[in-house]
Amino acid sequence: MLESKNSPNTPLSNLGEFALIEHLTKNFNLTNKSSLLGIGDDAAIINDKGKLTLITTDMLIEGIHFDLGYVPLKHLGYKSVMVNLSDLYAMNVYPSQITTSIAVSNRFSLEALEEIYKGIQLACKNYNVDLIGGDTTSSKTGLIISITAAGFGDKNRIVNRKGAKENDLLVVSGDLGGAYVGLQVLEREKAVFKVNPNTQPDLSKYSYCIEKQLKPEARKDVIKLLDELEVIPTSMIDISDGLSSEILHLSKSSNVGFHLFEEKIPIDPHVNLICEEFKFNPTIAALNGGEDYELLFTISQNDFDKIKDHPFLTVIGHACDKKIGCQMITGLGQQIELTAQGWQSFSKI
Ligand code: ADP
Ligand code: MG
Repeated sequence: MLESKNSPNTPLSNLGEFALIEHLTKNFNLTNKSSLLGIGDDAAIINDKGKLTLITTDMLIEGIHFDLGYVPLKHLGYKSVMVNLSDLYAMNVYPSQITTSIAVSNRFSLEALEEIYKGIQLACKNYNVDLIGGDTTSSKTGLIISITAAGFGDKNRIVNRKGAKENDLLVVSGDLGGAYVGLQVLEREKAVFKVNPNTQPDLSKYSYCIEKQLKPEARKDVIKLLDELEVIPTSMIDISDGLSSEILHLSKSSNVGFHLFEEKIPIDPHVNLICEEFKFNPTIAALNGGEDYELLFTISQNDFDKIKDHPFLTVIGHACDKKIGCQMITGLGQQIELTAQGWQSFSKI
């Protein structure tokens, strides 16, 4: 399912490496003043005077992080950028540059790579980042995409994982569990398709969650909102592995415990519906599912009034004494200790 039946299939061997790079990147322009030199030299140059540079990188590997059986290539390009941008937003910083390195086998055509780059370009446009370089190499088997993102931030506005204080409020953006249940639907449809390739599934009622899985959006809007509300979180992390494991990260880095209230966890009705169908507990999807790319942060209680009425911010708990640990309080008032059951790449292999 690498490309539709009608699209041409130009072998990569028709182009040399340099022609391929030139072809894939010719429509990318530099738009940020901090992008001093981009593609075409031995190295790019980025600089934004007086600010600190932040860099993050993430690698996506076919068969581990994505399955081309149901992930469209354009979405894959888009998502690979999103997972990186999300890491910089989680530092309260706007990303401004990315580099993109790909390893491909001859199973991929030029048109397939073009699709990936269309997704990358759309992400660059929507999030105002410049593609300034990368690397292109061959792989014997699957596809590998490695993206690095850079951004610049004022020293006193950068937020990391370690500033949460006792009694700070724990806040999450958006809603959770959608990406995970979306993946369950896609996996099920793939299995059905294997048995009967002629079925045309109607996925429209699942589209909210499938989109969360295939085309996540990094929460640039949340960073902007917090800025407008004049709130600087005391600590922050993005939710890539599931709420539970991210709370544990904040706890460990900040040296505090957390109380999380199960009934406060924002879960969209679409997620609840799919959970009912799959006989799955929505709380578990939120706690352990991952890939939601929402932001999880702590704020001082003094800032509560500024965020309290906002539709995409939900207070789900608070920081407490480290000795208490990280506890979820259920609807019935039971306390359950949170454990890291997030996505663990090594155990899956
Ligand atoms: P070098 O041999 O110095 O590593 P390359 O031929 O790999 O140079 O790259 C030439 C230019 O193209 C560099 O600016 C590099 O950053 C950029 N580039 C290479 N591959 C990609 C890619 N897949 N996507 C974007 N830019 C790329
Ligand atoms: Mg190179």
